[in-house]
Amino acid sequence: MATFSLQRLYYDGKPQTCTSGKTFQSINPATEEVLADVSIASNADVDEAVKSARAAFPSWSKTPHVARARILLKAVQLLRDRNDEIAKVETADTGKPFSETSAVDVTTGADVLEYFASMVAGGGLNGETVQLREDAWVYTKKAPLGVCAGIGAWNYPIQIALWKSAPCLAAGNTMVYKPSEFTPLHGEILADLYTKAGLPSGVFNVVHGAGDVGAYLTAHPSIAKVSFTGQVATGKKVAGSAAGNMKYVTMELGGKSPFIILPDADLESAVDGALLANFFSTGQVCTNGTRVFVPSNMKSDFESLLVKKMQYVRAGDVMDPATNFGPLVSAVHFKKVSDYIKHGIEQDKAKLLYGGLKKPEPASSSTFEKGYWITPTVFTDCRDDMRIVQEEIFGPVMSILYYESVDEVVRRANDTPLGLAAGVFTQNINLAHRVIDQLDAGITWINSWGESPAEMSVGGWKQSGVGVENGRRGIEAWVRTKSTLVDMSGVVATSFTKL
Ligand code: NDP
Repeated sequence: MATFSLQRLYYDGKPQTCTSGKTFQSINPATEEVLADVSIASNADVDEAVKSARAAFPSWSKTPHVARARILLKAVQLLRDRNDEIAKVETADTGKPFSETSAVDVTTGADVLEYFASMVAGGGLNGETVQLREDAWVYTKKAPLGVCAGIGAWNYPIQIALWKSAPCLAAGNTMVYKPSEFTPLHGEILADLYTKAGLPSGVFNVVHGAGDVGAYLTAHPSIAKVSFTGQVATGKKVAGSAAGNMKYVTMELGGKSPFIILPDADLESAVDGALLANFFSTGQVCTNGTRVFVPSNMKSDFESLLVKKMQYVRAGDVMDPATNFGPLVSAVHFKKVSDYIKHGIEQDKAKLLYGGLKKPEPASSSTFEKGYWITPTVFTDCRDDMRIVQEEIFGPVMSILYYESVDEVVRRANDTPLGLAAGVFTQNINLAHRVIDQLDAGITWINSWGESPAEMSVGGWKQSGVGVENGRRGIEAWVRTKSTLVDMSGVVATSFTKL
């Protein structure tokens, strides 16, 4: 029997039964138990959700900014009050340890909602006035776009839903959101929480289903904008279909990011950073620094300290506070990551420094008989042309690459069609800025990795994305500008008004 009740669609301010009569199952990745049956939206259901969002738009878009913010800030409070309860659901759905979901997933979502609500209440949607002549000027207004579609990935379910809905709703838009079919449980929770906070019916709606439901939603003629988080290949399809009727798009896609240890780096800190950048969330983080570049003369020190510290990556009962490494999210993803490790060993002939194709040793009394458990894996002496080095694996697989000079490492780091994140570890402040400046990536860190606060605009370069989320620029992705020229002197004399 399923742990949770049937997951329904959500529109018109309440849960709705799907008309397809079809469901899929959400599975606990740590145990393979069925968590819930989830309703699949038919096209007619998606139409209803979009209709609900359209009906809500005129009133919500005209609601004063402070009044909108008041409702969203109430939702922030509810999220914080229910942090651990929601984090437990996210742990069951994603397999990520509770030590992580309770500290990161809900909190970082709530922070972004608070940030955008406060921004619009504080005049963040105000336009500008430009004086042209003594009696003429231009003023601009930031207007919402309309009904927006949010399509989420499975690695940070509620956080992604909040990173999309927060600026969307704060700017006066309404949203139809589709979670990944692998992690659907947060959808109804968030919609219900928004309703309890006072959000009017139809402002935030949820539909469930696989890629075909996402494709129907994103191509829908009543959708003004698509905000998508997922793989590059899917993003290209979604952007292509959105281009059909000139929808606005934001694309938050994959990466294969370079983690560069510069010659003077503090070794201990660099190794800790490399662990964080590869094994947090079982490696299922878009910005992971999976190409770890190390100076050749640091090889033996780096490898011996890294292997020594692998003991701190602790797989175990996902509810145990000491566990910091869970299973992969699904059977499909387990196969994908395992195939990459196999390819690394057999085809790329990479040198396996740690891990490989086996289940991890449980730190606690767990047995791992069931579940999509994989050992954190490190390949060393890798070459740039290996498939495991070139393609996003999206799992706990680190590739170590050695280099001789800083110019060489910059060139190799940039030699990829992706450009999501990059970072350097060094004590030399000038060198840090010089190298960061040369790296083709939208999100960069110096002596840090992965922190993505609400204030920081994040988005990929090259094929890793279009546009940004969060920070002051984040709100711009959810508004359009209306410019008005006012001339108090009447129409300026032209050839039409003079002989
Ligand atoms: P996918 O691209 O497989 O799926 C993303 C979402 O798109 C899911 O909800 C999926 O539905 C849906 N979808 C699938 N096909 C279509 C379609 N044709 N039209 C519309 N929607 C569709 O990505 P994953 O879920 O596997 O997520 C992992 C990827 O996300 C990684 O590449 C990772 O790097 C990236 N990511 C990027 C982030 C960033 O900020 N740059 C942040 C987090 C992840 P369903 O799952 O039901 O098939």
